[in-house]
Amino acid sequence: MKIPELLLPAGSLDKLKTAYAFGADAVYCGVPRYSLRARENEFKLEQLKEGVEIARSLGKKIYFTVNSIPRNSKLGSYPKFLNEMADMKPDAFIMADPGLIFLTREAHPEIEIHISVQANTMNYAAVQFWQKLGATRVILSREVSIREVAEIKQQVPDMEIEVFVHGSICIAHSGRCFMSNYYKQRDANQGSCNNACRDSHRIFVTNPRQNDELMELTESEEGTFLMNSKDLRAIEYLDEIIRAGVDSIKVEGRTKGEYYVAMVSRAYRQALDDFQQNKPFDPRLLDELDKVASRKYFSGFLTRGMEERVPEEELNFQNIEEGTSRTQTQKNLGKIESYTPDSGMIHFEIKNKIKKGDIIEVFQPGIFESKKWTVTTLVHKNKEKDVLSGGLGMVSVDVPFPVAVGSFLSVISLEEVHSEEYSTV
Ligand code: SF4
Repeated sequence: MKIPELLLPAGSLDKLKTAYAFGADAVYCGVPRYSLRARENEFKLEQLKEGVEIARSLGKKIYFTVNSIPRNSKLGSYPKFLNEMADMKPDAFIMADPGLIFLTREAHPEIEIHISVQANTMNYAAVQFWQKLGATRVILSREVSIREVAEIKQQVPDMEIEVFVHGSICIAHSGRCFMSNYYKQRDANQGSCNNACRDSHRIFVTNPRQNDELMELTESEEGTFLMNSKDLRAIEYLDEIIRAGVDSIKVEGRTKGEYYVAMVSRAYRQALDDFQQNKPFDPRLLDELDKVASRKYFSGFLTRGMEERVPEEELNFQNIEEGTSRTQTQKNLGKIESYTPDSGMIHFEIKNKIKKGDIIEVFQPGIFESKKWTVTTLVHKNKEKDVLSGGLGMVSVDVPFPVAVGSFLSVISLEEVHSEEYSTV
């Protein structure tokens, strides 16, 4: 059985390298002007070029996201961007707008086109439609079930099919939400969504037959998050997804941090490798993904019709209790920038607080089993400390075994921690 490609997001070259190092077969990235990440996206044309060079040197794939739905005003500059991006020879463009697809096909018929999730492809007739227009892959809508995916693949077997398996989820169909435009004139279809669905909303009731006083309804002390979707996590259903004939499994999150990219990539890599070796699903992978900030997990629409297999708490799609992402078990400490074997010290930019006696876990590229140790020496600016706080910059801590540069560190904590990570469409 064909093992699908593992496709990770890259909002920067560092994230691209991390995704590949932790097991991704391919990444997607794009310039803010034409992709759906107008913010927190470091890619300019030069970085795209470098990204292609890195991908080629590793024998991996790279796709350019060109999936905004531009207005007339953005069409004039498109041929210049198109020619420059085409010259870089990525493996495909990910596209949604028929106008941009038309311009691309006319000028560069050699470019493979993958139809973006923004095009909202829900059925096999729509897949056939895109195939007739020359697309080689369709990223299906996040609202289809695994059973529907299997039927689509059966009906259009020679079309590549990609599905999202992990990451943030919209409360609306992709490409069809105007909540952000309505509240802040920020257009989700131009990559500027302000995540309005995740906000706390205020709801009032009144009784005109009494004193007509407005009374606020709240779900929790933080407010009412009636449109705040949980995050997708379909790792435990990969067996069914692979058997449905999926060619590529995709992770959402170009605005999320490198730690997220590393942790999600390594978990899905391990799950795919286990499947390939006929091993049963390893439930520890669920714990691994709990080490990353989330809005709580569910399996989305993928498991529609399979409710008997879905844990009860995942049957509810909304997280009405809280509006921010939280780590469930551990805090990201940072990425190892260098290691001094003589002193047994690692050096990294610290993201969260750590104190003497805390337990650190290290996740190394290419090795699934992590290692843990109790930290005894903390150093900042050549002075030993008892506590180091996030935001101090470069710090050093002791480690009792050799570790690889580029590994990620987390501190084990049972406290829930608010994360600044968030993502859009
Ligand atoms: S993330 Fe943005 S586009 Fe998606 S549902 Fe929320 S407001 Fe709409």
